Amino acid sequence: MLTTAEAFDAILAAVAPVETETVAAGLSSGRVLRQTVRAERDQPPFDRVMMDGIAFAWSDYDAGQRDFPVQAMQAAGDKTLTLKGGHCIEIMTGASLPTNADCIVPVERITVTNGNAVIEADYSVKKDRFVHPRGSDYARGAHLLTPGKTLSPLDMAIIASCGLTEVEVAVDPVIRVISTGNELVAAGQAIDAHQIRLSNGPAVISLLEGHGYRRCEHDHIADDVDRLRDRLRQHLDEASVLVLSGGVSMGKADYVPEVLASLGVEQVFHRVSQRPGKPLWFGKGAQGQLVFALPGNPVSALVCCRQYVVPALANASSATAAAPEFAALASSVSFKPSLTCFQPVKLISNAAGQVLAMPVKTNTSGDFAALSATDGYVELPRDQVDFPAGTPVFLQRWIARYP
Ligand code: AMP
Ligand code: MG
Repeated sequence: MLTTAEAFDAILAAVAPVETETVAAGLSSGRVLRQTVRAERDQPPFDRVMMDGIAFAWSDYDAGQRDFPVQAMQAAGDKTLTLKGGHCIEIMTGASLPTNADCIVPVERITVTNGNAVIEADYSVKKDRFVHPRGSDYARGAHLLTPGKTLSPLDMAIIASCGLTEVEVAVDPVIRVISTGNELVAAGQAIDAHQIRLSNGPAVISLLEGHGYRRCEHDHIADDVDRLRDRLRQHLDEASVLVLSGGVSMGKADYVPEVLASLGVEQVFHRVSQRPGKPLWFGKGAQGQLVFALPGNPVSALVCCRQYVVPALANASSATAAAPEFAALASSVSFKPSLTCFQPVKLISNAAGQVLAMPVKTNTSGDFAALSATDGYVELPRDQVDFPAGTPVFLQRWIARYP
């Protein structure tokens, strides 16, 4: 049986990068950038005035002038005016600094009467103050975003400021999320006492969508070899990633591995030394399709999806990985089996500024309701039984931060 690290490496080794496509800038949030975004212009593109007030020349002020005839008014968006000696220009936030001006005094510090602006007597004027100098944020041509960046809402400002209407991003893979099991009945359909509501499909799709993968469709297939073979053959033809749940354990109706093998999906591994999610199966289709067969138990399915499927898709997009995140256990945990334990946690912070992971008990790996209160899970290494409060542990959030 593979360790969690071996399983992770085996999955990454099977991943090939997806193609690049061009999308409208407005649709690029959450996608992985495949180009360099360079500054269109210096930023700010001109010496930008940061206060409403007056602009004048330091040399006049330095020579003792405190009373300036108003030459003109220049608002944001107005063409740059040229200041005449001994005058001032009424200036607004966001305007370009008039030629020959190098001093700004805010409107609160002046009195204007009969077209003359007088500076408050005890106000100390400083040259160049309230001017955001041209190019002081970045220079034209600067590499503002580089390939691998997962585009965040903040990056939308950069892309727009560079004048781009389109950007190159990694193709969003076609994903099929497939629930298997005779007992499953989807919401909206009548259900009998011996049946189970199908919940993994919606949860897995939402988790994948939360990580930016938007082309997910769901199918539900009964535990029937012929039916499984027909439907999975079609999914392998139409999609590049299959995320199944259920049917990979030791039960008599767990047909998924044999059916996948019969369709030419090469098994990379079956079973990982972890809890939850030990029965995890992973294989590669003849056209390079990634096939994840997650255990059916809801907690196992979600942990395996977050732990293995999401990083595999990120890797295929060539996304720059986020730095590993750590937290300190808020209370002690004991875990006897010689397996890596993925322990769901709620994050809290203490007055010392530490992020603490509070273990949340699940009542077996079927207890998906308990997960609602969690932010993610921590990884407790195998071959260690007792993890005292304060132990630093790897943290995986259900929905990752922007790297
Ligand atoms: P399996 O891995 O097929 O043996 O399923 C393990 C447990 O998870 C069983 O109790 C199933 O009923 C349950 N289960 C499997 N698939 C789903 C699903 N899509 N939604 C909710 N529960 C499921
Ligand atoms: Mg089943």
